[in-house]
Amino acid sequence: MTLRVVEIFGPTIQGEGALIGEPTVFVRTGGCDYRCSWCDSLHAVNSANRHDWKPMSAEAVMEDIKRLSGNRPLTVSLSGGNPAIHDFAPLIALGKSQGYRFACETQGSIAKPWFAELDTLVLSPKPPSSGETVDWDAFEQCLYAAGTTADVAIKIVIFDDEDFLWAQKAHARFPDLPLYLQPGNPMVDPEKPVDLTETTSRLEWLIDKVVAASWFAPRVLPQLHVLVWGNKRGV
Ligand code: SF4
Repeated sequence: MTLRVVEIFGPTIQGEGALIGEPTVFVRTGGCDYRCSWCDSLHAVNSANRHDWKPMSAEAVMEDIKRLSGNRPLTVSLSGGNPAIHDFAPLIALGKSQGYRFACETQGSIAKPWFAELDTLVLSPKPPSSGETVDWDAFEQCLYAAGTTADVAIKIVIFDDEDFLWAQKAHARFPDLPLYLQPGNPMVDPEKPVDLTETTSRLEWLIDKVVAASWFAPRVLPQLHVLVWGNKRGV
């Protein structure tokens, strides 16, 4: 059983969602069942890049994680693409036996039994601006797969008013789950600098929307890594 690995990097910090600011090593795998209009990880999505995705065993991935972390256990973030395409069960078992913790972010379109072995599962359903349509039955299967052992949270990226209203309806489906909102970032070209003025004004717009709606359930967060490093990869 091999994983198609795009990149393994860190330690750095988790830049968004429930574990924002937490030191972590990222394992990014290739392939995704979605094609979001504003995807910032196309190098891990487009099949044209698949020749750059390295087949690796769980043991080889774990060796890289241990080398990068200096053998000091920390949280490993499973990312993509859609990491739920892959079988991470062997890696999680191997890492947990050595004290590592595992978090995963996925859109919630594919449920996997190994969700129950995670410490944190962040489900990120994609709003209308993505051009994708959420299968809520599949999403609920992901929640079911995670069971009661993993900490589960929802993260939604908001680009416009339609996304905002959609997020409120999504939250109404799962009112007991922690919810994180994040302003969309349309500047996803890694070769171009990020306009921080626009980034912060989008964040301010989203905060204003939440306050004006008296919607006090979500936490509104920036993409911390974008504020610090722009769209640079591997940090
Ligand atoms: Fe990109 Fe994520 Fe959408 Fe896949 S689900 S296309 S990785 S934004």
